Formats: sequence, C-alpha cells, structure tokens
Amino acid sequence: MAPHPAADDPLLADCKFKLNHFRIKELKDVLHQLGLPKQGRKQELLDKIIAVLSDQQDQHAKMNGFMIGKETVAKIVDATFTKMHGSTDAVATSRNQTDSGHIVKPKRKSDHSSTQLDVNVCCPCGYSLPIDSMTKCEGTQYNTPQHVGCVSIAEKPTDSVPPELPPYFYCDMCRIDRADPFCVTINHIILPVTVAPSKIAPDGSYDVQYFDKTFLLSRVNWEMLQKDEYDLQVWCILLNENIPFRMHWPLHSDMQVNGIHIRVVNRQPTQQLGVNGRDDGPVLTTYVREGSNKIVLSRSDPRTFCLGVRIAKRRSIEQVLSFVPKEEDGENFDKALARVRREADTADNDSDIEVVADSVSVNLRCPITGSRIKTAGRFKPCVHMGCFDLEAFVELNQRSRKWQCPICLKNYSLDNIIIDPYFNRITSLIQSYGDDVLEIDVKPDGSWRVNGLKQWHLSDGTLCMPTDIGSKPDVGFVKLEIKEEPLSENTGCLKLGVGRNNYGKW
Ligand SMILES: [Zn+2]
Ligand SMILES: [Zn+2]
Ligand SMILES: [Zn+2]
Repeated sequence: MAPHPAADDPLLADCKFKLNHFRIKELKDVLHQLGLPKQGRKQELLDKIIAVLSDQQDQHAKMNGFMIGKETVAKIVDATFTKMHGSTDAVATSRNQTDSGHIVKPKRKSDHSSTQLDVNVCCPCGYSLPIDSMTKCEGTQYNTPQHVGCVSIAEKPTDSVPPELPPYFYCDMCRIDRADPFCVTINHIILPVTVAPSKIAPDGSYDVQYFDKTFLLSRVNWEMLQKDEYDLQVWCILLNENIPFRMHWPLHSDMQVNGIHIRVVNRQPTQQLGVNGRDDGPVLTTYVREGSNKIVLSRSDPRTFCLGVRIAKRRSIEQVLSFVPKEEDGENFDKALARVRREADTADNDSDIEVVADSVSVNLRCPITGSRIKTAGRFKPCVHMGCFDLEAFVELNQRSRKWQCPICLKNYSLDNIIIDPYFNRITSLIQSYGDDVLEIDVKPDGSWRVNGLKQWHLSDGTLCMPTDIGSKPDVGFVKLEIKEEPLSENTGCLKLGVGRNNYGKW
C-alpha cells in the first residue's frame, strides 16, 4: 500500500510532548484508565497510548466497556500531565530554594549555577513552562532552558531509553549559529520547532509527513532583506546528532514556499548525510513577500528534527577571523609548551624502533595550503601538536562549513579555534626565512631549531647560548642559508633515527 500523506497532527504532537515527560507511573495510570494492559517496558507503554491516539485500529481503548475516541484519550493524558505538573512545581520550588547550596545539574564546565528555572523556556515543543528536568545550554547567546524530553531523543524509535544529554549541551539556536559563523542570526522569523518523526506505514516504510507553518514578514524585516548582506534562510538540524554544529535535513525532504518548489539538499532523497557531509540552509528571500507567507516541508524519516526560519547576515572572512581570540587570550604559553613537551616525549616511547636521538622533527607545512604556516591556528581541545594556517583554514570553511580539524578529523566549531602560542612564536620568528624552510627539530624540553641549522632556541624562542666558552656564539638564526656541515658534538642532538614519514611528526 502506498503511504498516504499525513499531516502533523497537533493533538498528537501535544500528547506526545506530554507523554515524553511521563514516568512509568503516569503511563500505567493512563493505560489503566483506557482499559489497556499495563505490562511492558516504558517504551512499549508509550507506544500503546500513541497507537490509540494515532487511530491505529489494532488498539482499542475502552472505558466502562465503550470504545473511546482519541479526544478522550488526549483529555486523560492532559489531566495526568496537569497532576504531574503540580508535583514538578514543587520540585522547581525546592530547586530555587537550594540555588545557593547544592544544585542538581548535569555536568558543567563552568559555574553558571544560579540557573533560574522561572525564566522563559525556549523549547522546540513550543511550551514555555518548565517541567521535569530542564537543559542548560553551554552557549552564551541563547541559553534559556529546554525540556530534556524534547531535545534528548532516542536515535531509533524502538530505543526505549533516550540518550543522556551530552556533557556540553547546546540548544538548537546555538547549534545553528555555530554551524556557519559566516551567517549570523539577526532575527528568528520562525522560532525553532520540532519536526516530528514519520510514522511507520503498514508496509513497513515511513509515511510521508507534512509540516506547514505560516509566518509574517514585517515591513522592517522585508526592507532589511532587500539589502545584499541579508538573507531569509530556512534551516534544519537533527536533534540527536553526533556532529552538533551542522545542518541536517530529513530523508525525502521536499519544500514549498508560497507554493513554489525549493530544492532543500543536494544529496539523493534516500541518501543519509554522512559524517563528512554538510547540508545547506536554502535562501528563501526571492520566494517571500511582506506579510503572510507559508512554508511546507514534507519528509519521510523516522528521526526528530528541528526547523527554523531566520534572517541571517553574511560575514566576511575578516569578520569571522576577528572572532578568533588574540594569541595571548586563546591559550597560555605554558600550556602549549606542556603539550609540545608531552608529544615530543611520547614520540620516543611509542616507536618500536630504537631511538637514537633526543629530538623529533616537526613539519610546519599547513595541511591545507601545503606552504609554511603563517599564523598557527589549532582547535583548543586537540591533543596533538599539529597546526594549520589560520587564514587558509577559515577561508576553506566558508565553503565547506566543516570546521573539522585537518589533523585528527574531529568536528568542532569556530569557537574552539585559537592561535597556538608555541608554534606561532616559531612561525613569526622564521617569517623571513625561505619558503623551503619547513621543518624544525624539537626536543622534549620544548627547545627547537630549524632543521639543518645548528642554532637551538629555547622554548620561548630566545637563542640558546653555547656552553663551550672558547667558541664564538653561532648566530645561525640570522643566516638564511641552510648549512650542510655535520652537527657539532656539543649540541648533543642527533636526528631521530626512526622510520617516520617524510612529513615528520605533526
Ligand atoms: Zn519542550
Ligand atoms: Zn543555546
Ligand atoms: Zn585535531
């Protein structure tokens, strides 16, 4: 049987929201009132109630022997929710009272402990009341709480236990802002809203589900959109996503704005977005008008997404670069040095080949440009030494929107980028050197020299004075030619005799 188009049922969506916050106790209570069996795991209980609400004929709810309609079921769910909400109010109150003391909060890196539970909730479900457990976003711009049950969703509909919130949780609005720092949100025209999963059709496929929303564009907004640097953009993210800072559209996405068909993604409708893929946010500016507009999204995907429409302003590369903290604000020099020392040191330990020297060779070639790094950028959480050329990397990401470390391939956002104080000092010091100077030798104490030159520098860049009093100080630092003479004994350094690749350790 061909799947028939099914619109998102507001009654069902409303009930699902409430049901997602129910404990087993409330679910059993509802099933009892519906005259349905109460055994099973939590997800099974939930599914039974949803089946009745979705008019699935194999589930017959009876009350006092009479068949009951979904409106009645919705009323029962609502009453149970209200009853439960009464008790969660008490929880909220007690939390407020203990704010100065211990707070029941998920793991957090910083102390924003005075979480106010009475501030407005900004949740894609549309409810503005705090209930049950609430999230707290790590972002600085949008951090109003959301309902945990609305944003933490099991990957597969069959999973009974929703995943735990990640240790660093970001709300939808922060996620979309970080997905592309070349676009900054000026105004949310449609606030982020849940795009519900498609239902399973009798033939096992997923129903095509329609989401539609009417939105108003004011005169002020309309005039803003006439300027070049502003766009009206529709965006979508997957709620339970391993790569939080990217757009992600459902399978079989199809969109119409004011009746005009708009291509949403470049991949095949049936093709999943891979780990290295990035979806785009179509620009709607030319399809909308001042006043009322209508957007319809159809899709067929069992996962839960979140969609919004925003006015975004485009940023230039210079503007985006200006968000990277100054070298001294990004990371403490000693911390960078500690990383280099650790990495230079473990290089000796991890090799199965005999180590015959006390330095490692480090390549200063940018993995993107292939030339020597000018400004050494890195993602702060990365443990490796390797850096990239900051400007080239930012420019690359204007197109790719990946914000993926080119060395360890982990996914981050612009907010994690810093200037590496250790390597940036080196690349600045050797700025005037020829383009062929690409390698340095680094000792485990952090001292370094240009590969091929005799002169060592201390970790802070100052020249290492020779210990042999009889000899003249070697000012190899200012000599631009690379000497081929054999290394003298007193430097105490031989090259690391391990079979590393030509690019050295990075
Ligand atoms: Zn919610
Ligand atoms: Zn946020
Ligand atoms: Zn990395």
